[in-house]
Amino acid sequence: MTEPDSPAFAAATITADDPRYPSMVLGTNHRFVGRPDYVRVVTTTGQVVAAVAEAVAAGKRISVRSGGHGFEDLATDGVEILLDMSEMTDVRYDAERRAFAIDAGATLGHVYRVLFKGWGVTIPAGECPEVGVGGHIVGGGYGPLSRSLGAVVDYLYAVEVVVVDEDGTARAIVATREEGDPHRELWWAHTGGGGGTFGVVTRYWMRAPDARSDDPRELLPKAPGAWRSGMAVWSWETMTPEAFATLQANFGSWFERNSDPDSPYAALAGYFHGTHRSGFGLTVGAHMDDATPDAEKLMTSFFEEVTAGVDVEPLFVSQQVRPWLYMSSYPGWGDPGDPFTRRIKIKAAYLRKGYAKEQTDVLYRHLTTGEASPVQLILIGYGGRVNAVAPDATAAAQRDSVLKAAYMAVWASPEEDDTNIRLVREMYRDVYARTGGVPVPDDANDGSYVNYADTDLADPEWNTSGVPWHTLYFKDNYPRLQQAKKTYDPRDVFHHALSVRLPD
Ligand SMILES: Cc1cc2nc3c(=O)[nH]c(=O)nc-3n(C[C@H](O)[C@H](O)[C@H](O)COP(=O)(O)OP(=O)(O)OC[C@H]3O[C@@H](n4cnc5c(N)ncnc54)[C@H](O)[C@@H]3O)c2cc1C
Repeated sequence: MTEPDSPAFAAATITADDPRYPSMVLGTNHRFVGRPDYVRVVTTTGQVVAAVAEAVAAGKRISVRSGGHGFEDLATDGVEILLDMSEMTDVRYDAERRAFAIDAGATLGHVYRVLFKGWGVTIPAGECPEVGVGGHIVGGGYGPLSRSLGAVVDYLYAVEVVVVDEDGTARAIVATREEGDPHRELWWAHTGGGGGTFGVVTRYWMRAPDARSDDPRELLPKAPGAWRSGMAVWSWETMTPEAFATLQANFGSWFERNSDPDSPYAALAGYFHGTHRSGFGLTVGAHMDDATPDAEKLMTSFFEEVTAGVDVEPLFVSQQVRPWLYMSSYPGWGDPGDPFTRRIKIKAAYLRKGYAKEQTDVLYRHLTTGEASPVQLILIGYGGRVNAVAPDATAAAQRDSVLKAAYMAVWASPEEDDTNIRLVREMYRDVYARTGGVPVPDDANDGSYVNYADTDLADPEWNTSGVPWHTLYFKDNYPRLQQAKKTYDPRDVFHHALSVRLPD
């Protein structure tokens, strides 16, 4: 595939004395502000190769940012040259590779719009339209269509990566999932190995694993036309510990029972969102393609089963149908806070089962103690088609979970950092008290999610399990990721607190 004829501009170099600099070093999480010598805004693969070569020759530490939606300081901490991919946004059909080529700087919202308007297709990626594909896909992204379609990496056909050889030469490699491809391991490493580890992704190609056609409209799943969304919302004013426990027990057991790949409920993306009692309240929600047979009936029965025996009246229960593209690319959807409330701490876990009663009690305590707190819990239905794929088929190893959990807080002022980070850490530590403060893979837990990055997992103060952070993220796939690292980044040019390490 050729590059676009004329990039919008030649690579721009922005140094600290440039008025553009403060805007270029700030990501979504305002806790972290980069201090690189310069930011290089690139628009072609050739510019990326040149920028990486320049960094290696100068002995400068280089890193890459695409959508800026990373939760930790992985793209900028200690970095001297920051590559900004956010102007490489092309999305097009590549007839040669029979796949959709997506530049690494494209946001999910842009991808959804182009794929939908051009061909009526989509990919099962994340909910927040401002997330960049650059970090999202290599981290094993998922979203509201994942229970019915799988993880986004299940659709990754190929990836172009700028890597640095042992002798310091920077070059672009296209790695595909084809069995005979000499670079297949580089493709595999990009199916969940995490960003900022192997090189700079400049482009992804997406195609469904079983697609045989030459017609682009048949190479990715058909996008929904209409999107059914349901919600039941409770106020903390009327909530009781018993009702909270029943709701959690119902929610967990519903996902245990209805998350097989072939379940009729695989089309239903359900979630639970609970703020601290000083916040909005408690929500059980669901989304699904309204063209699913019996969509309304399935969703109604989900709400009936999850709320059965919860003897506290919700403030309201609703179901609405809206056009899918409107919902999937609604600006700011999923982004926390407002322009000023942008300090974030997140911790995550995969659940093979709903919470045990003692965990529910811990959660209730953390969500109700104190006058005010930004802590919140989000539980997201997982499994379905995600679980039809073997744990080693992609680097995304968690293939039999039924829920993902995000424990988080969002706030505005740096003065609140210490308190709020501590609140999230303590909630997580207490929920996983049985297993050293982290979700060690066992019959109930299955580790954590690298795209919800949390450097505490590598900190013995907060991970007392003796199980290393990389096992929590990558499980048995870690040694293979290390081999890919050795082959494609033998000088460890691309590294950060949670990057795959070179093998010993
Ligand atoms: C508000 C919000 C909502 C989210 N919603 C979802 C969701 O619904 N589903 C989900 O799965 N995840 C979700 N995420 C997590 C998101 O997928 C990850 O944070 C992802 O890594 C972000 O990618 P990015 O390019 O936007 O971030 P960046 O901050 O640019 O990058 C994140 C990491 O990837 C690396 N990286 C970025 N670009 C490249 C590249 N081109 N080549 C190599 N490495 C690269 C960076 O160096 C960094 O280590 C959400 C995050 C936020 C903040």
